[in-house]
Amino acid sequence: MNFASKLTEERRNRLAAERMLELKQAELFAANRKLGLHAQQLSEEIVETRAEVETIRGENLRVKSDLSAANQKIALTERRLWQSIETISDGFALFDADNQMIMANQAYLSIFDGLEVVAPGINYITILQLLTDEGIVNTEGLSPREWRQMMATRLQVPAPEPKVIRLWNDEYIKLVDQRGSGGDMVTLGLNITATVNYEQQLEEARAKAESATRAKSSFLANMSHEIRTPMNGVVGMADVLTDTDLTEEQRLYVQTIKNSGEALLSIINDVLDFSKIEAMKLDLHPEPFDLERAVHEVMMLLQPLAREKGLNLMLDYDIFMPTQMVGDPGRIRQVLTNLIGNAVKFTASGHVMIRVTGVPDAQGLQNRVHITIEDTGIGIPEDQRAHIFGEFNQVENERNRQFDGTGLGLAICQRLVELMGGRIWVTSEEGNGACFGFALTMATGSVAMPDVAALPADIGHVMIVDDIPTNRTILERQFGQLGITVTACSNGPEALASMSPEIDVILTDQNMPGMDGMDLARALRDSGHDVPILVLSSTPGQAEQDPDSPLVQGLLQKPVPRATLFARLSALGHPKDGPDTAPLGPMRPMRILAAEDNKTNQLVFSKMIKTLEVELTFANNGEEAVELFKVIAPDLIFMDISMPGMDGKEATQAIRRIEKETGGHVPIVALTAHAMDGDDHGILAAGLDHYLTKPLRKPDILERVAAAHGPGLLPPLPADSDQAAG
Ligand code: ADP
Repeated sequence: MNFASKLTEERRNRLAAERMLELKQAELFAANRKLGLHAQQLSEEIVETRAEVETIRGENLRVKSDLSAANQKIALTERRLWQSIETISDGFALFDADNQMIMANQAYLSIFDGLEVVAPGINYITILQLLTDEGIVNTEGLSPREWRQMMATRLQVPAPEPKVIRLWNDEYIKLVDQRGSGGDMVTLGLNITATVNYEQQLEEARAKAESATRAKSSFLANMSHEIRTPMNGVVGMADVLTDTDLTEEQRLYVQTIKNSGEALLSIINDVLDFSKIEAMKLDLHPEPFDLERAVHEVMMLLQPLAREKGLNLMLDYDIFMPTQMVGDPGRIRQVLTNLIGNAVKFTASGHVMIRVTGVPDAQGLQNRVHITIEDTGIGIPEDQRAHIFGEFNQVENERNRQFDGTGLGLAICQRLVELMGGRIWVTSEEGNGACFGFALTMATGSVAMPDVAALPADIGHVMIVDDIPTNRTILERQFGQLGITVTACSNGPEALASMSPEIDVILTDQNMPGMDGMDLARALRDSGHDVPILVLSSTPGQAEQDPDSPLVQGLLQKPVPRATLFARLSALGHPKDGPDTAPLGPMRPMRILAAEDNKTNQLVFSKMIKTLEVELTFANNGEEAVELFKVIAPDLIFMDISMPGMDGKEATQAIRRIEKETGGHVPIVALTAHAMDGDDHGILAAGLDHYLTKPLRKPDILERVAAAHGPGLLPPLPADSDQAAG
């Protein structure tokens, strides 16, 4: 190879090397630039990260300080809470779901008197064990085991009832335990010693007050009994005195003594009853009784007063309602006496109507009985209607203040009715009358409808003669419901005009304007009618008829109990046969036995019937009454109820037992000091037929004597000789 070519080659190589160098330089430059860029990016990132770190550091510091503040607050709150729990005097403890103590305050721990084991961690069951073992708790009659068991069982309930435990030193702790959501249990031990002691003091004070009330009430009961006995003598003797020859002035004095005595007796009775109710000493004595008869008896009692005022006293007893009920007859009569008595008292003219309706339940076992007493008297202003049921409250106005009274009657009625589970109300139109009502639920007694079935089948048509429409309607409805045809007439002439052979019996009122009942009977007989006639009169003793050919077949005292009326109708037998005028055998005077331990009352009684042609024998007590009953076989017995030894009820029971063997049934009339004061329970149940309340009134006694008069006996009353026998 020549030099030139060598040179050329070298140049070429150099050029190649130079190009390579350039290339490498360019590559290096590019790499350098990239590196620069990366470095710049890195440094930017570092700056950012640094800033972030700074921020986080700041935040961290803030959180740290917040946390410490929060911790301080928690500690403070906890301290305050604990201090509060410690300051309360009641015990506080917290147990976990396994009944391990978490914490307890000093008050809680103090009852353990420094027992170190009682501390957080101890189990509730162990605490119970300690309480009994250490004698800290008074288990009040339970054995320690029983007590622990009772307390442990209590804990198993999610929300146990608070429990009062008694400590050895007679402190009382009320435990209130409450389980929380996680099963923790908070126990509060409230020291209620002061409350319990206070309650005990109250209890003692109450017992003392109650015994004082009882003493007061029995004092009142005794006193009123003691006052009543001489008062009966005063009133009875005043009554007897009115029958003697007196000047007008003397008569006025005697009448005043009698009226004041009676008013005083009624006040004594009211006060006694009210004090009994107040002292909660009044118990009800439910027994089977005849409601209709009870209403009648009350009406009979008040009939003389109503008659005096010319008031028409009427009863409408729902014929479809049973008469036999189970209730407290004495208390029901008392309410009735009060309400009917008020109705008569506050009514000057018109009527007093008693309605008894009722709805038996589906089985016929219970009756919702509704009794209303409607009058046509002075009425009660609207704003006074609630007021009058309060004790000693009366309507305060001119018109009302003309009447006597204590204002206790309605208060007693309301309490009695409520005691019997019923309610009482009043509606009224001032000036036009009042209507008092009460509703009671009573069980049905044994016999549903007495005597109704006994009506003879041959009575198919009854004529009713009465001038008072309500009286006609009541009877009309009662007969109508039994399928008997009724011809109702409002006066005698109308009855004469409506007479027809279909009529089987006539029921006529006696006191009608123009032609009275007896006049009608006479007119019927004169025109040849021999249909049986029953006359209803509120004063049957005054009706006159010839005993040899009686005009009528019966004179019945109004109001007539339904059972009595039906019995009389049944006794007519075959009505078309005419009255029984068979001659009677030789007549003897009526024998009356009166059992009465009080000599004054004996004197009063004998004076009251001294005008009667009867044989009177006194028994001084129950035993004597029974003995005399066997010896003299009386036609009528008056029986004092409260007698020492064998009382009137026991004597009557003994007599009824004798009669079971010998047959017969002597009417026995109870004489009670106060029929409504609760002593009368069982008077009628004991077998007595009627009762009269003291002070005795002559007309009532004469009425009973007249009612007991039967065939073969001389008429007891001189006036009675004109009266039909039975
Ligand atoms: P008392 O009749 O002894 O005053 P009550 O408690 O029986 O006591 O009656 C309270 C009052 O209610 C009576 O004084 C009277 O003002 C009023 N009162 C009660 N019943 C009637 C009635 N049927 N008509 C008008 N007012 C009556």
